[in-house]
Amino acid sequence: MNALNCPKGHGPMAQKKIKKQKTFRGVDIEYNADAFICPECGLEAGTAQSAGDVQHAIADAYRKKAGLLTGQEIRSLRAAKELTQQQLADVMNVGIASIKRWETGMIQSKSMDHALRIQLQSAFRADSYTGNREISLPRIKLVAEAFERTLRKRLLKSGDKLLFLAKYLWYADMLAFRQLGKGLTGASYAAMTYGPQLNNYRELVKSIRESDVKDVELLSQEELRVIHQVAEKFPNKRQVYDAAHREKIWLESKTGALIPYSCANELTEF
Ligand SMILES: [Zn+2]
Repeated sequence: MNALNCPKGHGPMAQKKIKKQKTFRGVDIEYNADAFICPECGLEAGTAQSAGDVQHAIADAYRKKAGLLTGQEIRSLRAAKELTQQQLADVMNVGIASIKRWETGMIQSKSMDHALRIQLQSAFRADSYTGNREISLPRIKLVAEAFERTLRKRLLKSGDKLLFLAKYLWYADMLAFRQLGKGLTGASYAAMTYGPQLNNYRELVKSIRESDVKDVELLSQEELRVIHQVAEKFPNKRQVYDAAHREKIWLESKTGALIPYSCANELTEF
């Protein structure tokens, strides 16, 4: 924005952060604004921000005061849960446009705020996406190694896209959830065009390979039995890849959406 000149002839005005008070929806709020101030006479003229930025500042000040999540809070909680805007929209049964608006300047209703908190502030992301477990990278490594031993194949390779390992893991996690009431790893799986995939696998591969399995809960006999069941069914990695692509629960998921563990009963290959 161009510099303004003081209308009283004192030359260029300076841009400064100021606190503004306002009554918004019946609530007194205070928010930060950028304004042009004359250094000579203190005259304040206009705002140095876009109308949209001012609206966002007002909306967030109001949300803070009214006990609603602010746009920034929604964004950071969602990032901490490793959910995309689309995934959050799907689990809340709203359009992605609503998530985008709430994360910027639109004020959510009290009931939507409650629904957001349920999704974003629960101890883990909704159990239905983690199979009643907190995600454990060492456990993913243990399961991967168990598959490698059983299949006598390397599956967890450096820089790997996990095209095959992710399917073995997915079947084992889903099947364990179905048979034992609890997944093996706590991992979330997203429906990608190339099949079910470990959510955010790109960030995880290296950490999984380097994770320390020394202090992790060992796989139980029942859990190993599930792994063997999957390995016996798909001795060849092409088979597990193709089978996953025949699964109704993958076919019916939107691309990128998380596949809930509650769908484990609908697996067609087991
Ligand atoms: Zn002036």
